[in-house]
Amino acid sequence: MKYISILGATGSIGTQTVEVVRAHPEQFRITSFSFGTNLEVGAKLVNEFRPGRVSVATKELADELKRTIDHPCLVYYGENGLLEIATDPASDTLMNAVMGSVGLEPTLAAIDEGKTIALANKETLVTAGHIVMTRAKENNVDILPVDSEHSAIYQCLNGEKISEMSKLILTASGGSFRDRTRTDLQGVTVEEALNHPNWSMGSKITIDSATMMNKGLEVIEAHWLFDTKYKDIEVVLHRESVIHSMVEFIDGSVIAHLGTPDMKVPIQYALTHPGRLDLPSGKRLNLVDIGTLHFEKMDLERFPCLRYAFEAGNAGGTMPTVLNAANEAAVDAFLTGRIEFLEIETLIEKTLDNHECVEAPSLEEIREADVASRQFVQSLIV
Ligand code: NDP
Ligand code: MG
Repeated sequence: MKYISILGATGSIGTQTVEVVRAHPEQFRITSFSFGTNLEVGAKLVNEFRPGRVSVATKELADELKRTIDHPCLVYYGENGLLEIATDPASDTLMNAVMGSVGLEPTLAAIDEGKTIALANKETLVTAGHIVMTRAKENNVDILPVDSEHSAIYQCLNGEKISEMSKLILTASGGSFRDRTRTDLQGVTVEEALNHPNWSMGSKITIDSATMMNKGLEVIEAHWLFDTKYKDIEVVLHRESVIHSMVEFIDGSVIAHLGTPDMKVPIQYALTHPGRLDLPSGKRLNLVDIGTLHFEKMDLERFPCLRYAFEAGNAGGTMPTVLNAANEAAVDAFLTGRIEFLEIETLIEKTLDNHECVEAPSLEEIREADVASRQFVQSLIV
């Protein structure tokens, strides 16, 4: 039996994690979870799973939740609440499916408690990869990627040596605007940007896919997870999302991971590793029906966010922290109607240009760079 805490249980990854748990009650138990503001779904989950602890965004929501639920449990709130869920003594595994760098400190706290980390929250590794990976190694903790590309690579590396790997090839679907030119992007709406062709996901990551920042964050995530230099990470546009990513080895062999675009596969694998379980609801891949797969070179002029990510990753220090925080602030501004789509890129570029990089930053310096970058983005929005 695996005892699981979930951060972000009401989100896209969170609810699919819940579905995986429901399908295998003999294997998995949810001991605690957090959510933000979605009381309707969150209260139902409390009544269904009867966790020992639950956490919500604010004290007001915590009070409201207590009045709604018919199960006595500890109710926490805010960032401290996320820490209480991450360190729940009743769990052995943390599924981190919260959105944004707010996931960093709970991840570190769970690592310190020796819990296995199933990591969907890529912002954690982008913002402080050096701290997270070192801490995981010191505590002998596994970080199992939930992001589909990284789960694919992890599976391609089963039984292989990282030292015999020559290149990682991440595939990108291209997001909602993959067939538009930059001129066509003037004035696009939030609704258009949220219409992803292959995956149904939370709104922030769907916008990240449209700007290609998602792939940029994933490049940095791969650098940390698989100890790979940026020059050995390649991104190719693959519109069918059938190959989830590939690894090239020193003898020229390439191992790819294929499947239908279904996040329940990497979610479940992160929970069953090193074994597997049946996924009855999952559609099976039919290559004959698909017929042809397409691959295109990524155009860094068309998708400058991918270029910023490679540059920030190569610069190291606090630059990836700034990239991530500026992106979170800019995407939020777009989603709330305060800026145009193309301004996301310009705000990130200006914030990176304005920042003085701190080498090998401490957690405190990461926090400072994160807060300062968000403030800088706000100061640029008129
Ligand atoms: P969603 O927006 O769907 O869900 C986010 C979850 O986190 C919700 O439960 C939300 O609560 C909660 N939440 C958001 N902000 C806060 C906060 N400040 N404090 C506490 N809780 C908060 O996101 P996704 O599930 O799409 O993504 C989650 C993570 O997984 C992201 O890092 C994303 O990049 C990554 N990921 C997602 C994929 C996908 O297919 N969705 C694929 C690969 C990676 P509420 O809604 O109740 O307010
Ligand atoms: Mg991904």
